[in-house]
Amino acid sequence: MAQHPLRREAGLSTLAIHAGQAPDPTTGAVMMPIYQTSTYAQEALGQHKGFEYARTHNATRAALERNLAALEGGTHGLSFASGLAATNALVQTLSAGDHVVCGRNTYGGTYRLFEKVWRRHGLAFTFVDASDSDAVERAFTPATKLVWVETPTNPLMELADIAELSTRAHRVGARVVVDNTFMTPYFQRPLALGADVVMHSVTKYLNGHSDMIGGALITSDEALATELRFLQNAAGAVPGPMDCWLCLRGTKTLAVRMRQHDANARDLAALLEQHPKVSRVFYPGLPSHPQHALACRQASGFGGMLSFIAGDGSLAAGERVFNAFRLFTRAESLGGVESLVCHPASMTHASVPREARLAMGFADGLLRLSVGIEDGADLQADVAQALAAL
Ligand SMILES: *Cc1c(COP(=O)(O)O)cnc(C)c1O
Repeated sequence: MAQHPLRREAGLSTLAIHAGQAPDPTTGAVMMPIYQTSTYAQEALGQHKGFEYARTHNATRAALERNLAALEGGTHGLSFASGLAATNALVQTLSAGDHVVCGRNTYGGTYRLFEKVWRRHGLAFTFVDASDSDAVERAFTPATKLVWVETPTNPLMELADIAELSTRAHRVGARVVVDNTFMTPYFQRPLALGADVVMHSVTKYLNGHSDMIGGALITSDEALATELRFLQNAAGAVPGPMDCWLCLRGTKTLAVRMRQHDANARDLAALLEQHPKVSRVFYPGLPSHPQHALACRQASGFGGMLSFIAGDGSLAAGERVFNAFRLFTRAESLGGVESLVCHPASMTHASVPREARLAMGFADGLLRLSVGIEDGADLQADVAQALAAL
């Protein structure tokens, strides 16, 4: 498959548009075709073009995988039917008896997969506050093979120090996986900071248009990539070519979208922080964020996700504001061009026990915003009128 002749030092906006894809050699089509086929003709016994069956090989999927690998600065990209399917494939590289250290605020589905599925198969998991590198290290055992971090976390926007955790994990022979869904490679490139694998729910910012579900793993570890390629085919949680194509279309505008998400979120965070009806704002871009210095060190921007507590933090106060939004859509998920508001305690984090939530500063009424790329003034007006309902 033809690839675009890119300069070695090409920037991220250029890579996003061209990496892994070139005009189709047969027709000159500028856009990557959607190879909607399950099988491929063979000219004679054992003679084919390298494509046999589409669970194993699909050119649209391969283009997406090359594109995502280039964006994260890895040598190998593998795409999956969902973010959780990507996570599942990575866990399948482990064996019974192995141990994983995972951030306590990890995505709920990741927690469920580890605790409710893989624990039964003999894997052990320890959940720790990953913003505390010492706490992560204290959780290491001789069986620790993987350190799983999400940074920033959802919805409290706590950060984990990727470089520091990678150094400590490598000392004991464990690999570090970073769920980079919130930051995207536009702002944060974990492999360059020392992590071994980047995981994405491409459903979110990489696709960016809320119209497909997908996942990806990116690594420069040859042995791991070979194992993951085997598992991708052996277990078969592959995405369809149409979904790969939608994501490829999405990544072309990643850079411009992320700049606008970030600019809009910074303005909203500043507005919320000085608003008399808001008691707390969680956004790494605010100088008041306890890990603002780390955010500036390991990422080049702060992204479009933020959370806040209105009034006394009660469910009633949160509900009042939540129901008053007009432009922000009340919905789960994140990372699309449209702005969304979520009430994590009843939606994405309903399975987290209330006491555990409160202990972390995660109040009943906390609201999370996925700040879209609409005009900033319209978003600010909507937030202001929603808070006026309180
Ligand atoms: C959505 C999400 C996932 C899970 O991805 P799916 O595509 O929904 O399977 C994992 N991690 C984070 C941070 C997410 O936001």
